[in-house]
Amino acid sequence: MKGVNVRLNGLSKRFGKVVALKRFDLEVQAGELIAFLGPSGCGKTTTLLMIAGIYRPTEGEIYFGDRRVDHLHPRDRDVGMVFQSYALYPHLTLFENIAFPLRLKRVPASEVERKVRQTAELLGIGHVLERRPAQVSGGQQQRAALARALVKEPQVLLLDEPLSNLDAQIRLQARSEIRRLQQELGVTSILVTHDQAEALAMADRIAVFSMGELQQFAPPDELYRRPVNTFVARFVGHPPMNLLEGRFEDGWFLKEELRIPVPPGHPTGPGYLGIRPEDVRLEGDVPARVRVVEPLGREALVTLELPGNAAFKALVPPGTRPGVGAEVRLGYDRRHVHFFDAAGRRVGP
Ligand code: ATP
Repeated sequence: MKGVNVRLNGLSKRFGKVVALKRFDLEVQAGELIAFLGPSGCGKTTTLLMIAGIYRPTEGEIYFGDRRVDHLHPRDRDVGMVFQSYALYPHLTLFENIAFPLRLKRVPASEVERKVRQTAELLGIGHVLERRPAQVSGGQQQRAALARALVKEPQVLLLDEPLSNLDAQIRLQARSEIRRLQQELGVTSILVTHDQAEALAMADRIAVFSMGELQQFAPPDELYRRPVNTFVARFVGHPPMNLLEGRFEDGWFLKEELRIPVPPGHPTGPGYLGIRPEDVRLEGDVPARVRVVEPLGREALVTLELPGNAAFKALVPPGTRPGVGAEVRLGYDRRHVHFFDAAGRRVGP
């Protein structure tokens, strides 16, 4: 199996007056696994369904390698797709479910037998092929759906929230299994998810969507370290980044009576200061009062009240957990401050 690069050129989709996607450009490298991440209704599924051929774009083009595919029937595109619901046929055995796309292509029976068994073995469901979906576990149904998508050796694999029906533990296992298999096969893959942990753990690069527009397309580390705007800054990272709206002046961030010294590189005038809870320290210059302490196992998430009606969260290590109502002074790691201008765009490195 060999992946191709996938190119979306000025892709738009409107449903009547609803603009689901606005002139979208994106290029996925051959063999890469990328994730579409964003809140509900931002256009992730619509984009995936256009790549699959289930929706027609209103404008724009889709290429797989040099081949333009947006006018082709789904069957002729060479994609495998896994849906959240798995969409297995309940009256067919797993064997027949996995064989289905090969039967449609009139592949000879002996080859169907060989390919179904081989793909099922790869996914660890070789021993349950004679059962129907209702007679196997959720994890096995999920693998059968994946086997059905992979059996015809597609150039592109599309995954629409494929893990959301699994319970937490199996989901973690399924994440690394899909990733391993995807890398082994080298199939170009696009995963739709609203679970950032899943996207961060599985994807080479993540495309963050908001309201039908691409906000940032970057590897997980870069999204986390250098979010290009306040939307990405809030959306990626858990617990979310602290963002204060105020004014920058001569090395200070000011918001009512709150004054925070800031390192060089900040904008001047109105803007946003961003600091992740993991970069806040309970030692420094800024007075604060502890409002809430939430133990998270090893660490605790502390909600702080600052002057100027500002709230801030800090992730504090074991042994330094303050009591509710305590007066503390906070500081932060200066290497990890984020600055945004009044329009929410990143400023500085
Ligand atoms: P979710 O995570 O909830 O699945 P999403 O990011 O996948 O959300 P889409 O399903 O792509 O979002 O929807 C994008 C926008 O297009 C939404 O405003 C949605 O209501 C609208 N939309 C999607 N499909 C249709 C349709 N068939 N007819 C009309 N509007 C639609």
